[in-house]
Amino acid sequence: MILQNWWFTTLLGIKGPIRPPLKDHIKTDVLIVGAGAAGLAAALRLAGSGKKVVLLDRNICGGSSTGKSAGFLTPDSELELSQLLRKYGQQGAKDLWEVAARGVETMVSNIKKHKIECDLQIQDCLFIGKGSSGWKDVQEEVEARKKLGYSSTVYTEDEVPSVLGSKAYSGAIRYPGTFGVNPLLYAQGIKQVLLDNNVEIFESSEIISYNGHTVYTHLGSVTADEIIFCIDKPKPEVTKYYKEVYHAQTFLSISEPLGDEDIAELFPQGPLQCWDSDLVYTYFRLTGGNRLLVGGGDLLTTYAKNDTTTPRIINRVITNLKEKIPSIRDLRFVQYWEGRIDMTRDLIPTVLRDPAHPWIHFVLGCVGLPWATFCGDFAARNVLDNKELDNEKYYRYFSPDRKFLLPLWLEQILGKRLVFTINNAWAKYRQKDSSFHQGLSG
Ligand SMILES: Cc1cc2nc3c(=O)[nH]c(=O)nc-3n(C[C@H](O)[C@H](O)[C@H](O)COP(=O)(O)OP(=O)(O)OC[C@H]3O[C@@H](n4cnc5c(N)ncnc54)[C@H](O)[C@@H]3O)c2cc1C
Repeated sequence: MILQNWWFTTLLGIKGPIRPPLKDHIKTDVLIVGAGAAGLAAALRLAGSGKKVVLLDRNICGGSSTGKSAGFLTPDSELELSQLLRKYGQQGAKDLWEVAARGVETMVSNIKKHKIECDLQIQDCLFIGKGSSGWKDVQEEVEARKKLGYSSTVYTEDEVPSVLGSKAYSGAIRYPGTFGVNPLLYAQGIKQVLLDNNVEIFESSEIISYNGHTVYTHLGSVTADEIIFCIDKPKPEVTKYYKEVYHAQTFLSISEPLGDEDIAELFPQGPLQCWDSDLVYTYFRLTGGNRLLVGGGDLLTTYAKNDTTTPRIINRVITNLKEKIPSIRDLRFVQYWEGRIDMTRDLIPTVLRDPAHPWIHFVLGCVGLPWATFCGDFAARNVLDNKELDNEKYYRYFSPDRKFLLPLWLEQILGKRLVFTINNAWAKYRQKDSSFHQGLSG
């Protein structure tokens, strides 16, 4: 098994993927920094608005988290619906679930409208419980979905094998409206649409600093009326909000193609995208080329300071999965890769217009392609001053000043990792935010 991102391998088939770096000093109406799902959504919203738009990325479009991701398009993220419900109450949970659901819809409609060839798969999702606590998680999700009026199908332990070739799970919940995609081909497809709509794109162009309305790369600069930063792993030179962002490492691997009989054994009622109820969960789905994509990690490396590149962790994930699903026991995995997902202390994105420099917008710590897509689009609609937006509402959900259990300054004493872990666990399992439970007015 070699260390290579499969989606990068698939890029070999497309023509002219790289845009040259910025070498001039240019002016524009709107500059977007970062061409992941968020920056691309922002650029797409602004393309054709009459504004001159420039998009910069230090890598290629989709070259960071977006193009490393597993391409599950689901409103489910690191926070399940039942957790959103406990934390935000009924209206808040619905608002935020629909943020992600709208992100999914936007991506799928972009793919269809612009005929982007990125292996779009219609795949219901299957959240599978492990052991008695996993079954409890499944039931909580079912209850939360019922309460908010979302449909789902429940499978008991005996019924799981009718949809997944395994007798090792204690139950599952399935729901529709979810998709699989090759995220790097998606990003590159959107890039082409933007180019066709006169957006100027510079790849291999890292922003190293900014001053007022001007940002600087190694070789050039851009002066813009409005600047939207949709960057990952932000550095202190670029924004003081870098402290809001943390990372979780996860690993992916792709198999050789499965035959029709293998697929029928694995997914008796057709392909599904699956993840289990473990804290560091295992996730898997079939790509359009009938390869099995498997992801996961372990507790030691998820929040480790340095990247781990050995195949040891993903090999363990695969071995454990093979023990549960007998039909894939002899399946060979050919490539693996790792990536760090940016996140915040409570797994909700941070989106803001800088109070001291209102022409600067930040979209940071989005966990999931749909969240990033919604937030990038939201920031761009603000640039256009779109009155249909429920601005105050979303700015409150995504404010850097929202409630966390422990403040950032405690990191100096307790260390970044410990404070993050406590805040994160509190937000996921305990937090009940009364200001949101009382309801938000638009
Ligand atoms: C291995 C892995 C698997 C995942 N699987 C899924 C999944 O199945 N489904 C899902 O929804 N999500 C998944 N995610 C999470 C998802 O990829 C991210 O949440 C999402 O891509 C975030 O999008 P973004 O646009 O905010 O960030 P990014 O995609 O990281 O984009 C930020 C961009 O900013 C650029 N940039 C950063 N700094 C600078 C600078 N100084 N100058 C210029 N450019 C800069 C980067 O090069 C990058 O292209 C996964 C992530 C990983 C790592």
